[in-house]
Amino acid sequence: MSVNTVETKGMLNTKNFIKNVVSDYLNKCILCHRCMDACPVTKGQFSIQELNQAIQGDRPVPSVIKEFVFHCTQCGKCVPVCPVNIRRDYMVRSLKAKLRYQRPWSYRRYLLIKGPDLKGIQRFIQKLYIAFKKITTKDLACFMETTPLKKADVLFYPGCYIYSKKTVRQTLRLLDHLSCSYSVLGGVTACCGQPHLLQGEFDEADYCLKLLHGKIKTVSPNIVLTSCAECFEAVEQIKKIFNEDFEILSVVQYLVRYKEKLPTGKIRGKLTIHDSCRFKKESPQGLAARITAQMFGELVEQTTSEESSCCFQWNHGQDPFNGSRRKIYLTGVKKNAPTLVCNCLTCYEELKKIHTDVEIIDVLQLFEEAVDALQSRNGTL
Ligand code: SF4
Ligand code: SF4
Repeated sequence: MSVNTVETKGMLNTKNFIKNVVSDYLNKCILCHRCMDACPVTKGQFSIQELNQAIQGDRPVPSVIKEFVFHCTQCGKCVPVCPVNIRRDYMVRSLKAKLRYQRPWSYRRYLLIKGPDLKGIQRFIQKLYIAFKKITTKDLACFMETTPLKKADVLFYPGCYIYSKKTVRQTLRLLDHLSCSYSVLGGVTACCGQPHLLQGEFDEADYCLKLLHGKIKTVSPNIVLTSCAECFEAVEQIKKIFNEDFEILSVVQYLVRYKEKLPTGKIRGKLTIHDSCRFKKESPQGLAARITAQMFGELVEQTTSEESSCCFQWNHGQDPFNGSRRKIYLTGVKKNAPTLVCNCLTCYEELKKIHTDVEIIDVLQLFEEAVDALQSRNGTL
């Protein structure tokens, strides 16, 4: 099940949606604790009953629960284990909304320049940031903060990740290699709203989604591409709510679809995949990453105990044990393969910051290396 704003066609009111489902969940919960047993983040001493009570109306939220709420990454690991089909992630999300004015600085900082129509100092900082990026990243400047007017078969939507230069350049190069007709929609003002949603800013998330829908409509694409699992979910939601019929694919899914047009060959050794909590191992995106790894190297799957489906990005460094968990995870990775291939751009951006001797790459890099090898053979590089 995906992590969505609203799940009803034609309706865009996340605040009401969360309020209604959570009130239903509070009645259904049998206090079995399985959700908390599956939850990977640090938790202090509190019972499910206390957690459920804190969610209700104006009840105060004890500090030990507040801490947990800020540790929660919204990874959804608590969802499949619930015997009565409750989405505990939504329940915690409602607490994030309740505590939104008490968020730590690391949360607030993350949203400082994200979103359309910012006001005052935020708007000023956003403008400075954009101007700086346009000057320092000239080759991508034409794609920053623009609404493409050209109708195109494919819309590449990097959103805020337009500033994640390496992956964007790789995508553009590979789309060009396929002679694909595409437009690009990227920028902090074209944010998909998921960062707001995952912090409990429901109205802001709905607003971003609505604006993004308008921008996508301008291009009228048949396919929307993204490498970020959160953007993917937002666009999937747009498709559902506004009854759109475009297809939404991760960039690697698209490349795998046209793999006959791309160079292939074993250019790598052992590779293992980092699955995102939203692009899971068994999902079409997880499958596409595995096909890619097998095309260019030897895929080694991690055992269930070694797997991590979370890069811990979405608690914004609040959980003091993020670092040690990642260290344990990467030690397990190293036993299997020297290279960890990330399937989601958010995971890649987060994991690549870690000091480790495991090589961490975006899955698109494998395709790009194959194009490099081909061009080098042909003497065109
Ligand atoms: S969504 Fe939050 S509560 Fe659920 S498992 Fe992930 S971190 Fe824990
Ligand atoms: S697993 Fe489901 S029923 Fe059990 S405590 Fe968690 S939310 Fe309640």
